[in-house]
Amino acid sequence: MTAGIYAARKKIKTLLITESFGGQSIIAAKIQNFIGFKSISGLELSKLIQEHLKAQEDIEIKDQALVSQIEKKDNGFIIKTSAAETFETKTILLGLGNRYRELNVEAEQKFKGRGVFYCATCDAPLMKNKITAVVGGGNAGFESVIQLLPYASKIYVLEYMETPKADPITQEKAKQSGKVEVITMAQVKEIFGDEFVKGIKYEDRRNNEIKELSVQGIFVAIGYQPNSDLVKNLVELNQYGQIVVDTKTQKTSCEGIWAAGDVTDGLYRQYNIAIGDSIKAVLNIYDYLKLNGNGK
Ligand SMILES: Cc1cc2nc3c(=O)[nH]c(=O)nc-3n(C[C@H](O)[C@H](O)[C@H](O)COP(=O)(O)OP(=O)(O)OC[C@H]3O[C@@H](n4cnc5c(N)ncnc54)[C@H](O)[C@@H]3O)c2cc1C
Repeated sequence: MTAGIYAARKKIKTLLITESFGGQSIIAAKIQNFIGFKSISGLELSKLIQEHLKAQEDIEIKDQALVSQIEKKDNGFIIKTSAAETFETKTILLGLGNRYRELNVEAEQKFKGRGVFYCATCDAPLMKNKITAVVGGGNAGFESVIQLLPYASKIYVLEYMETPKADPITQEKAKQSGKVEVITMAQVKEIFGDEFVKGIKYEDRRNNEIKELSVQGIFVAIGYQPNSDLVKNLVELNQYGQIVVDTKTQKTSCEGIWAAGDVTDGLYRQYNIAIGDSIKAVLNIYDYLKLNGNGK
């Protein structure tokens, strides 16, 4: 949305294609570090930026459109959407963001929304008086525990390593409740149930023993994955699948493609950073188009 605002103001002929507005933190109850706002919800922030974007005259927007393919052609690109629409462009700015990382165990897909969740902020209330497992002992995992505390009757935290990595202060807060049991060296092997989740099996990595917990909910908090599959054959990705960019300009390894925000190999993932990246990219695209005789 930031890139859209800047591109419109620079009068670059622009089409903004997005599957949805708001991005990944639309679910955040409180964002307290967005400059200029002491506290605002992700939804409210998204609405305000959308209003700002839609107030621009010089931008075309295609909402609820999933880009499914990008092909290089002569000195430009062909973009295809899942609705079989096709667009031609000289330059592309990718702001594809992240999605939750999945466990990749059997039945995970079957139980999505039926006991397997990825967002405690959204779904913790469903765990009222229920026994729950949180997979992942990092900050995201323990933040999920904090969200679950008012609801769940018991919370297991399954951590792959010997010690959880979350900040000690968050761990302490969770443990003080008396509801939390941390199980370390645990590798999740299976999710089981009937219509809904009934339990989880994990391997105790100390002795390879398979153990079982009866739980009605499983919150997966093992990090994020960049949405870069779409361009894996076009631009250089690092070992984590993030798009490698030149941080001065946000250029990727493919001439004519820039990337911004969480999908890049930038060190930090924050709103204000994604915004700064996008501005750098649009200004650089403007210079590029001018140099190539296409300033407008
Ligand atoms: C729960 C939560 C809370 C957070 N809280 C904070 C906070 O308090 N402060 C802070 O600074 N940061 C916070 N963040 C991080 C912040 O949300 C991200 O840094 C920011 O959203 C990154 O923006 P982005 O545009 O790069 O990616 P995203 O927000 O992920 O947006 C990517 C967009 O691209 C679209 N898209 C992806 N693939 C396609 C495709 N193929 N075709 C069309 N559209 C596509 C998606 O639909 C999405 O709208 C939080 C994140 C989460 C998950």
